[in-house]
Amino acid sequence: MKIDDLPVRDELRGQSPYGAPQLDVPVQLNTNENPYQLPEPLVARIAERVAEAARNLNRYPDRDAVELRTELARYLTRTTGFERAPEQVWAANGSNEIIQQLLQTFGGPGRSALGFEPSYQMHELISRGTGTRWIAGPRRADFTIDVDAAVAALAEHRPDVLFICSPNNPTGTAVDAATVLALHDAAQAVKPTMVIVDEAYVEFSHRESLLPLLAGRPLLVVTRTMSKAFGAAGLRLGYLAADRAVVDAVQLVRLPYHLSAVTQATALACLEHTDTLLGYVERLKAERDRVVDALRALGLDVTDSDSNFIQFGTFEDQHAVWRAILDLGVLIRDNGVPGQLRVTAGTPAENDAFLDAVRTVTKEL
Ligand code: PMP
Repeated sequence: MKIDDLPVRDELRGQSPYGAPQLDVPVQLNTNENPYQLPEPLVARIAERVAEAARNLNRYPDRDAVELRTELARYLTRTTGFERAPEQVWAANGSNEIIQQLLQTFGGPGRSALGFEPSYQMHELISRGTGTRWIAGPRRADFTIDVDAAVAALAEHRPDVLFICSPNNPTGTAVDAATVLALHDAAQAVKPTMVIVDEAYVEFSHRESLLPLLAGRPLLVVTRTMSKAFGAAGLRLGYLAADRAVVDAVQLVRLPYHLSAVTQATALACLEHTDTLLGYVERLKAERDRVVDALRALGLDVTDSDSNFIQFGTFEDQHAVWRAILDLGVLIRDNGVPGQLRVTAGTPAENDAFLDAVRTVTKEL
């Protein structure tokens, strides 16, 4: 039996599950993780908070995760200067689950979502998984969003949900506030459209967060994650900031008690150590810029990066280059963008190993 021999839903036929290869190689720079392990004092604090939570595991967790949402709101307020209340924040198991809840609420059968490709593939896959028709919107050759072309696509396709990923995965490019506003307004002029700004990587950006654009725009949502800047991909904690009506609406589809007590306790411990974790972000930003410069010095095309990863090329056969770099013990990512590869910024030693591998491989091209 194969998947397609089963009576699976039509939109899942011929699809493959999302996921980068998890290979056991010395240098792993393929999934935009933070290379720094959590500091020991934080590990100890997690153990303490989880022990406290464990004593009450006979009970269901706080269904509304009020303490956690309060701390997330405080983090957003502190880092952006734009005030958020707990009622304007919602949390789930990774921003993937946040996106799924948004699509279950605002997408679904008979509805559509549009995103500008190449972008984070899960926007499309979660759309399909929720029965939402996916529309691939355009980008310029330099991977920025062409507002005129985007506005034309909005008028033509009339999507119910619009994705704007900033900084964008896999290109690393950030979107400026004027572009987001132009797209938001153009979408609303056609019909009420939920505009989801995916800021999974925003802490690594040279630009400010787009969060303040939420003021007076109840159909705008900003999604975030603790997987990248907080170095806690294994925690599975994503969140959104939006009008409180949006937070109320996603509760119509969230599973009861979706965020375990252990998850809430761990996330709260991480938030207590925000400053230390943001210190790692500064190191990673400096390393990212160093790798960008080094790749450019090798004569490669490097897309400006506002993220903790870098898109570079241009290769005739990017998959062959990906394979050759892997053979030297460095795992990076081929997202299928023609001619381009993506590398995550790692520790200085990991980045040096990557740059050595690129030097070796490009000499042979
Ligand atoms: N958005 C973007 C743009 C991403 O690249 C990722 C992870 N690769 C996510 C969301 C999801 O992250 P998580 O579910 O770990 O929060």
